Amino acid sequence: MDKLALLYEGKAKRVWTTNDSELLVVDYKDDATAFNGLKKGTIDQKGCINNRVSNHLMKVLEAKDIPTHLVEEISDRETVVRKVEIIPIEVIVRNIAAGSLSKRLGIEEGTKLSKTVLEFCYKNDELGDPMINNYHIYALGLASQDEIETIASYSFQINEILSKYLAKVNIELIDFKIEFGRTSNGEMILADEISPDTCRFWDSITKEKLDKDRFRRDLGNVEGAYHEILKRLLGE
Ligand code: ADP
Ligand code: UDP
Repeated sequence: MDKLALLYEGKAKRVWTTNDSELLVVDYKDDATAFNGLKKGTIDQKGCINNRVSNHLMKVLEAKDIPTHLVEEISDRETVVRKVEIIPIEVIVRNIAAGSLSKRLGIEEGTKLSKTVLEFCYKNDELGDPMINNYHIYALGLASQDEIETIASYSFQINEILSKYLAKVNIELIDFKIEFGRTSNGEMILADEISPDTCRFWDSITKEKLDKDRFRRDLGNVEGAYHEILKRLLGE
């Protein structure tokens, strides 16, 4: 599958068109940003690790009947995916209080939430990805009620599947962000990535942070954490 033209360059990935109008190539970079691009850096090998981790987790989800954009990993950093029209909503699922939820609601980081929390943010860098609810989504025409019901149902299922899967390798799934998109035939599928950039992964026993919070909060051993996730999931 040859890359034709650069369709989009984001903060963590480049997206290329191909000779098949239904397919794209996603190319993962080592660049890391946080706080809406204010903090910038690189994490050695991050692109390769996120490519492999995301594809691995998407395969786990596919096996449980969650439709994803994954088609084929073609190199260390590159994967062929189904082209979708991204729904401009960041869907966040939370099991344990952390990050912005802890700050906003005054709940100590690490507190188990008695019910899984689902949040939506408007994917808009200029506005700083503000949190929105279903009414905003319908008022802005971002997605229909049917689509949001599908997205919510998939999101809770993804949380159940990944939480159970990760627990087997002593990783606690604290929270994560996912994105969905519509294919040309109107199917809603999981797109973008699932990686230490987009999830909070804590060691189940030591509670050590094994994700991008090490970069965001200058905790050190950022590369080590990404490698540890790769090792636990793929044995490398
Ligand atoms: P950002 O746009 O936040 O800087 P990235 O660097 O990860 O993020 O860029 C990747 C972009 O590609 C994102 O905007 C994401 O929504 C989009 N994307 C992910 N998967 C697909 C897909 N299957 N089809 C079309 N666009 C996609
Ligand atoms: N997240 C993400 N991209 C974003 C914002 C959040 O991938 O633009 C992920 C983040 O890695 C975490 C979850 O979504 O796993 C919840 O993040 P939170 O709202 O706590 O934001 P933060 O503390 O990172 O500002």
